[in-house]
Amino acid sequence: MALETTKEYQGDTTATTLIALFCCLPYGIYSWVTDRKTMVICPQCRETADPEASTCPHCNEDFDQHR
Ligand SMILES: [Zn+2]
Repeated sequence: MALETTKEYQGDTTATTLIALFCCLPYGIYSWVTDRKTMVICPQCRETADPEASTCPHCNEDFDQHR
């Protein structure tokens, strides 16, 4: 069974991002969209984790057994 995935915003939420969002909206949206990263959802604890991880960083669930 394949692991579920989700999109999660990985960029910073500093003033620079906010200024980009408000002063240069197209760029801000572009930056926000492209910075999103596909994450896997742990079947055990429902937390998100890096797709490269072999175990859940939250509960140590072994992702390899779900692949
Ligand atoms: Zn987990």
